[in-house]
Formats: sequence, structure tokens, C-alpha cells
Amino acid sequence: MTSRPYFQRSAQLFETLSSEDVATALLNISKASYSKVSDERIKTLMKHIKVVGEHVMGSTHSRSTLRTKIHSLCFNLGLPSLFVIINPVDIHSLVTLYFAGVDLDLDRFLPEVLCTIYGRAQIIATQPVATAKIFNCLIKSILKCLVCGGVLGPTKASFGTVGSQGRGSLDLHLLIWLKHEYTPAQLKENIQNQDFRDNLLKYLEDVVKEDLDVFRDETNDGTNTASDIRVSIQETDPITYEVVPACLSTPNPASDDYHRIFCKDVVRLVETSNIHKHSTTCYKYSKGKSDTSKTCRMRMPRVLVKTSNLDLSTGQITMRQSHPWINNFNE
Ligand SMILES: [Zn+2]
Repeated sequence: MTSRPYFQRSAQLFETLSSEDVATALLNISKASYSKVSDERIKTLMKHIKVVGEHVMGSTHSRSTLRTKIHSLCFNLGLPSLFVIINPVDIHSLVTLYFAGVDLDLDRFLPEVLCTIYGRAQIIATQPVATAKIFNCLIKSILKCLVCGGVLGPTKASFGTVGSQGRGSLDLHLLIWLKHEYTPAQLKENIQNQDFRDNLLKYLEDVVKEDLDVFRDETNDGTNTASDIRVSIQETDPITYEVVPACLSTPNPASDDYHRIFCKDVVRLVETSNIHKHSTTCYKYSKGKSDTSKTCRMRMPRVLVKTSNLDLSTGQITMRQSHPWINNFNE
């Protein structure tokens, strides 16, 4: 990492630098940009720190190198088609708890093993390696099945970076270049055609869900509503176990009544975990504004829209929405 041939030559140059020189340069950099530094020795030193820093995972320089690679991909392939953030909620994941050493049967759900949300968060926080391993395993599976596996259709490239969030767990920011024949200009031209427009909206409505109407229709069979399942667990177990539906195992596709159970599961998950409640992060870009002029950066509550539509002149797509507080989700 530090074996570049010119490093030896520069060492002599750095020996002539005093701590005052560095302090002056730092002061200038804090006031203006790095390009304002006039001392050639400092410039060389900064260049070398950058060269070394590129190899240090998580450093500013390594991140800047990743950005350069993304720019290169954009020059080569055009703009990416999808920007995806994968943010697994590890504190509700049975598999993550299992990796973190909790003795549980993944096929048999026992609420008492799960303890409280706080307890689960504690277990996860004390086992960062286990959490990172399961994250890696999960992301690899998603990339294998969704990106390379063709669920999104053929792709030209993808580029993802892993970061850690404020709460300590990992997330992935992923750019995907889809291999389809439409450029943005072609899309704008094609939406003038009624059939194309209808199909595009149908496709988007199939992928992006903004409310629970279709799922409620499917589960409306006169029996328990989806949220009853949660209630019944709490009734049999009145102590402090908070069973979040995300902790429950996913429905088995082999079961006869799979479609109805699946819809019920979606309703249950969305009702408990996907309905927006304002928090301080909603207003993190509204600092210094008065309470009345602050706006939620998630644009909640959403404006209700009866039917999805597409503005022919601007190309703007507005999706159907019958619930003002639901975060859009994929089925
Ligand atoms: Zn909000």
C-alpha cells in the first residue's frame, strides 16, 4: 500500500515541512477548498494521503474512488435505470437472531423466544459480526435472484455500496442498469401511444403498491381480519412480548390457500410497519424553519389519486393512491 516508487523521493520534501505549515494549510482548507492551497509540499502530501487512503475501506478517499467508478459506468452505459436501497430490519429477523446465537427453531414460532424489541436490539448490537454475516448472505441472495436471476429482466450492470446507518446496522445502496431498448427520450416518445401508456401504468401498478385495496379485496372472506392474528397472539401472551408481524415466518407457497394467506400477510405487515408516522428525521432538512413552514421530507401525508395517470407533455407519472399515510411497497 505504501510502496510507490516516488514515496522515497517525497519523504525528503516532507521533512522540510513544519507543524506551522500544516496548521496554516488546514486553516486555509477549512475556509476554502483544497485547491486554494498554494504550498507545493502540502499539495504533494495531500496527493499521497489520497493514494494511500483509496485502499483504506470506509475512508473519504475510498468513497471518492467508488464515486469515480460510478461516473465511469454512467459515461459508458448511460444513466442507471434503478436506484435501490436495501435496508434489512435485523432486529425483527429470526435468522439474524439465530446467527447471533439465540437458540430458536426457525420453523416453529415461539413468541417468548423473541423477547422484547429492546431485548432483540440489545442482542443484535452485541453481535455485529453475526449481523454483518447475515447481511452479506441476504444481499448476495437478493443480487443472485433479483439482479442476476432475471426478475428485473436482463441487466447490463449493477454497482452497490454498503454503508452503516445511524442505528448501527448495514444497508446497501444499489444502482442497476437494465438492458432494455428504451432510452428516456424513447420512453417520452412512446408514451404518446395509448397502448404503450396503458401497459406502462399497468406494469407500474403491478410493481409499486401505494395502498391495500387489492389485498383487502382478496382477504375479505368473512373470517378474521389480518390484524386479528396479532391480537390473538397478544391475548394468549399478555406479558411484554411484542410480536411484530415482520418476525413471523413468511407464508408457505406450497399451501393450498397461499394467495389469500399471502394477501393477509401483506395487509398485516403494511398495517403495522408501513404506515408513516412523522419523526425527527422527517424534518432533518427543515432545520431553522418555523414549525408551520416545516415539511415532511417523505412528502407525507400523500395526496389521494383516484386513478394512475401520465402527463403527456411532462412525462410525469402519478400513481393511484387511496391511503394518505402508506409508504409505497412492493408485493
Ligand atoms: Zn414524516
